[in-house]
Amino acid sequence: MTLVTTCAVLLRSFPYSETSRVLHFYTESLGAVGVMARGVRTGSSKSGSGLDVFAEGTLTLHVKSTRELQTLRDFAATRPRRALGNDVRSFGAASVLAEVVLKHAGEEANPPLFAALSAGLDRLSDASPDRVIATLLREGWCLVSTLGYRPVAELCVECDSAPGDALTRFDFSAGGIRCADCSRVEVGPRLGPRARSQLAALLHNGDLPEVERPRAHLRLLGDFVSYHLSGGRPLSSLEVLATLLDDPSTAPGGGADA
Ligand SMILES: [Zn+2]
Repeated sequence: MTLVTTCAVLLRSFPYSETSRVLHFYTESLGAVGVMARGVRTGSSKSGSGLDVFAEGTLTLHVKSTRELQTLRDFAATRPRRALGNDVRSFGAASVLAEVVLKHAGEEANPPLFAALSAGLDRLSDASPDRVIATLLREGWCLVSTLGYRPVAELCVECDSAPGDALTRFDFSAGGIRCADCSRVEVGPRLGPRARSQLAALLHNGDLPEVERPRAHLRLLGDFVSYHLSGGRPLSSLEVLATLLDDPSTAPGGGADA
């Protein structure tokens, strides 16, 4: 058994018994880790334990490689991010980032992914209510890119032409857009010039764009993650978040063709 101290973000927490919780952390030096925390009151929001979901801090734990759940010794929160717990959409958005990381990240360290997750949660925590979804989209695509799946939004993946004002389709298997000449009907959702320029802006570090059809953008991100990162399974946190939005662009197959 080894005592390990690492930076960590608490991504999930659920009760195991009256006095214990199972905690899922993403850590800088161990990747994803499940931890048994004994002697923690469950169901107490004002426990003062610092063990709030999305809190980041210094985690010390007893690690035994043959064990599924490690043993918590201490967690000292340095970034409690309580704002995320005070707003249901912010919490839902942060849950999407958590699910992307937990679905894909293994037990090996990935410091760039840890940094991207940490920065993403900070930005969500600081986002004004009307910018939560655009912030989530940017940070979600950032996680996807950090995991090696940055999509191509400006040039056709087949012929490298710039589509200008033309309609394109998003090809999940190729990881980017196809111009009309290179599109087959069944290849993926439609992506018009405005949705495409919003996606391109989300993928860069400039000002956050106005996202005109947030549900369609969230569906594109979710379908991309399902295709490349989660073995075809949808992100349940994204389905929950979608129920909190009031955006009419919900028709299946409608695509982000604004
Ligand atoms: Zn083309």
